Amino acid sequence: MTAVLRQLKPEIARERLIRTLERKGITDTRVLDAFRKVPRHEFVDGAMYAQAYDDNALPIGLGQTISQPYIVALMTQFLELKDMRENEKILEIGTGSGFQAAILAQFSRRVYTIERHRPLGDAARKRLRRLGYENIVCKIGDGTRGWPQYAPFDKIVVTAGAPVVPEELAKQLADDGRMVIPVGTREVQSLEVYSKRNGELAKAAACDVVFVPLVGSGGWKESR
Ligand code: SAM
Repeated sequence: MTAVLRQLKPEIARERLIRTLERKGITDTRVLDAFRKVPRHEFVDGAMYAQAYDDNALPIGLGQTISQPYIVALMTQFLELKDMRENEKILEIGTGSGFQAAILAQFSRRVYTIERHRPLGDAARKRLRRLGYENIVCKIGDGTRGWPQYAPFDKIVVTAGAPVVPEELAKQLADDGRMVIPVGTREVQSLEVYSKRNGELAKAAACDVVFVPLVGSGGWKESR
């Protein structure tokens, strides 16, 4: 599916993307519905508009990307989010364009997201406000430190590749909580899913992924 928006209306291009996600193994219909509701074309640069519903990561500036839709869907599915009535507290590290945060906001009114690059974080905050997402709290800073003020979190999703699970994030995950995080080298990571029981993290590794690096006190050093 290449540059489908050139010929199709966003709603139709979105449905085609959803078929692709289903074909690739996304089975949680609530996740697919969330993709139906969030207009990805609003989260990419005007020049990328035609590719907004291709199943690809796209550049968003400062060497960063809006993640591939399939990977966003897979990470969301792995979080095993409860529905809106449960109002889980969700923390995302790596706001980027704000797209993943908008997907998470379909499941809870308590979404917290941290971005280290101010221009990206400010642009995402404005975009999310403009699109009417009032339940997403954005912050600029080093997400590897978590957000102690709002901890513990029921769910944590890290959308940049870490060398190890940052200690602070492990601490700020609630008991019975889940964390999804890519862990590995700067070049390739394994998507890891953690559940916390009685203060201990139990790990399941999912698949290989390639993310931009998580840079910060509990992540990688600034680029060499
Ligand atoms: N979730 C984003 C979206 O939906 O567009 C895509 C995230 S992009 C793959 C990874 C983001 O993580 C980048 O914007 C990057 O600047 C950010 N990042 C990297 N290290 C970070 C850190 N320590 N704290 C917060 N954000 C970080």
